[in-house]
Amino acid sequence: MNAFELEMPDSLKAAVALLDPEDPTIRVMSGGTALMLMMKTDVFHPTRLISLRRIEETWSQMGPMPDGSFRIGAMCTLSQMEHNDALAAFAPVIRQTMYLLSNVRVRNVATVGGALAHGDPHMDLPPVLVALDAEVVTESPEGSRRIPVAELHLGYYETVLRGDELIREVIIPPQQDRRASYLKCTTRAVKDWPALGVALSADLDGDSMRDARLVIGSVGERPLRVSEVEAVVNGQQMTERVIRDAGEAAAASVETIPDELGSAAYKTQLVRVHVERALRAVVNQNA
Ligand SMILES: Cc1cc2nc3c(=O)[nH]c(=O)nc-3n(C[C@H](O)[C@H](O)[C@H](O)COP(=O)(O)OP(=O)(O)OC[C@H]3O[C@@H](n4cnc5c(N)ncnc54)[C@H](O)[C@@H]3O)c2cc1C
Repeated sequence: MNAFELEMPDSLKAAVALLDPEDPTIRVMSGGTALMLMMKTDVFHPTRLISLRRIEETWSQMGPMPDGSFRIGAMCTLSQMEHNDALAAFAPVIRQTMYLLSNVRVRNVATVGGALAHGDPHMDLPPVLVALDAEVVTESPEGSRRIPVAELHLGYYETVLRGDELIREVIIPPQQDRRASYLKCTTRAVKDWPALGVALSADLDGDSMRDARLVIGSVGERPLRVSEVEAVVNGQQMTERVIRDAGEAAAASVETIPDELGSAAYKTQLVRVHVERALRAVVNQNA
């Protein structure tokens, strides 16, 4: 590991000021779970790390907003999200996802800001937050902006965030009676990295599905929203026939990329089966 400067600013503005948009060897560190791995494996050689630890208290609050949305500070750990009862009532799928995500040691340290900024397409939380139509609020010298999580990731470890821009918070819009589920398939233990993750959020009017948002992770370079599946299910009674058609539409339209967790053909079969299961899970969920 090379020598590097460690800065510990005491405000978000000071943290942003320490970044250099032209220098990718300067990065912020939240939980450090991904950064430390990259440094230990010689993938990343920082010249300066900006620890957000001193501003954790301000940016690790979460709660409902007056407009019915739910705000989560970027420094909230995944464990804080898992154990927050207000968040579990607002979007139960988040707690459900945390039970499947890595292990308690990682969840106790990793933050939602890091989970979104890291940009590894195998991560569990990004597809869920895309399905919930969440946005991130960022901070940079130019001020703040809101970016839908659906538009945050460009490819492997690549986001639209500028080099001097931080994620400040995550906003999930009101969910009303929407139902959601997240299914994960791993080749080993359930808490392992996913070979595939499927997140679905939808409205149900009786047996009819409306406004479905189906997102698949771990099969491409970024979380993929699958409009072909949404077109099959929206406005339809969710019969077994429609569910199977949706699985076929997913398998036909999602271009899978092989990795150490499975070949492209294996992943395509996972897509077919898990899209059907995600639809059944949402249909059979108590509203
Ligand atoms: C053993 C192990 C198992 C894991 N298994 C899983 C798994 O099954 N599923 C899963 O989804 N994930 C898994 N992970 C990944 C884990 O979720 C990520 O490492 C974690 O979410 C990153 O968060 P962090 O706060 O530690 O980020 P850090 O390591 O601090 O940072 C990661 C990246 O994000 C940037 N960053 C951090 N915070 C911000 C911010 N607020 N604004 C802008 N950029 C920021 C950093 O500069 C860095 O580039 C695993 C990790 C480990 C170590």
